[in-house]
Amino acid sequence: MTEHISYVSTRDPDAIEITYSEALLAGLAPDKGLYVPTQIPSLNDAEIRSLVGMPYTKVFHTVNEKFVGNDIPRKDHARLTEAAFRSDKFPDAIEGNITPVEEVADGILIQELSLGPTAAFKDMALQPLGQHMNYVLSRKNESLRILGATSGDTGSSAEAAMKGLSGVSLTMLSPATGMSPFQKAQMAELSGGNIQNISVNGRFDDCQAMVKALKMQPEFADLGAVNSINWGRVAAQVPYYVYGYLQAVDGNINKPVDFVVPSGNFGNVLAGHIARKMGAPIRNLIVATNENSVIDTLIQTGVYRRPSEAYVTSSPSMDITVASNYERVLVDIFPDDPAKVKAYMQVFEQKGEVSFEEFGVPNDILKQLGFMSGQSSHADRLDSIRWAHQNGRLIDPHTADAVTVARKIRAERGDDNTPIVCMSTALPVKFESTMHEALGCTPIRPKRFIGLEERTKTLSDFDIINPGDSSTLASFVRNHR
Ligand SMILES: *Cc1c(COP(=O)(O)O)cnc(C)c1O
Repeated sequence: MTEHISYVSTRDPDAIEITYSEALLAGLAPDKGLYVPTQIPSLNDAEIRSLVGMPYTKVFHTVNEKFVGNDIPRKDHARLTEAAFRSDKFPDAIEGNITPVEEVADGILIQELSLGPTAAFKDMALQPLGQHMNYVLSRKNESLRILGATSGDTGSSAEAAMKGLSGVSLTMLSPATGMSPFQKAQMAELSGGNIQNISVNGRFDDCQAMVKALKMQPEFADLGAVNSINWGRVAAQVPYYVYGYLQAVDGNINKPVDFVVPSGNFGNVLAGHIARKMGAPIRNLIVATNENSVIDTLIQTGVYRRPSEAYVTSSPSMDITVASNYERVLVDIFPDDPAKVKAYMQVFEQKGEVSFEEFGVPNDILKQLGFMSGQSSHADRLDSIRWAHQNGRLIDPHTADAVTVARKIRAERGDDNTPIVCMSTALPVKFESTMHEALGCTPIRPKRFIGLEERTKTLSDFDIINPGDSSTLASFVRNHR
């Protein structure tokens, strides 16, 4: 029997409980908090041991189901899991392993999370999220319109996951400039049917502001979300930490492991934190940032400070000013005290800066919880891409941020034999110009991406709107099925 599990908003003092499927369709809570489980389910040693040598689908089913509870019957959950990770969606899986872990050198390992349809780790969560949403909606005989904004990888990944599903339609805003031609082409290829692409004459922040503004209108209040504030995404990322762990220790299941996670919105690393709370023997979760180092500063100093704007970097999927999912860690810092979480977030939202100290919490609390951090520059990225290449491995610029931090920590710690696993969040093929700058050549494309830009040239362009033009956006969304 699966256990019952329920969810509450991080900011709700009345702790109004909802189910997994309600959290899945809701996105943000009405009080602007994020949904978190009332209790973290546990994964005991015997269960971890029983997963040694099992395929990813088995690990996913076992771990993810604990967050779904009895909301989706077991055999349906198993079927949706098979559909999400079907082998034709992961054509480059290695002997059926869709997220393999391999050592590069010096005890630094890489977990490849980017073998899915759009070559970014977001597929690992969005594929099952699409299946779960569609299942829950069709059972209720309902449909859901989703509006999202992307700076790059979320767009195509969400579209690939939702394409053709009868219960959902997706409208995605993307900035007219800033995305790579490859990323635009990936989205263009998915346009049509239940997928609508709109290009905003501005930047990612403009897209996001338009999504927020539209959702404030009563008519659009029930639009769904696919960004990483959706609990369904976090829950779908926890299993790959368990699976990565098992590979890194090669069956020796009491041995600890460190993970280094290239971070933007803090969704990926939060899933690692949840896996650790469940009982996976993860020692440190090491957050790697690029020049947008908000979270590095937070972990090192206890001060969460929003910069006035994000730097444009060569690991663009991490170019953020705020890390929304970080709010979910606050429930461990202010246990059973949602009013404190709310007050802390309000100080941040109003002043653009907040410290633990002003809430009576030690400034190194995140370190005490097992987080570490570091940052990487453009030059560091190029250096780590070359280092990995010399050791026989191609890595993308985001993964290079993680590898940079892993190498620094490895050097500082000396001979610590705890494996350090870097999460690979995209394939190098998505960022050809930086790869060329580092190595003097571009990576060979996986077969499915050969000729991508050429074959999408003939497809119709995205609809274009101006920043702030919410009435045109409203009519696009209204007229989309
Ligand atoms: C989205 C993304 C990230 C950041 O992940 P978060 O969950 O937002 O921290 C890192 N790398 C790549 C390639 C991404 O697409």
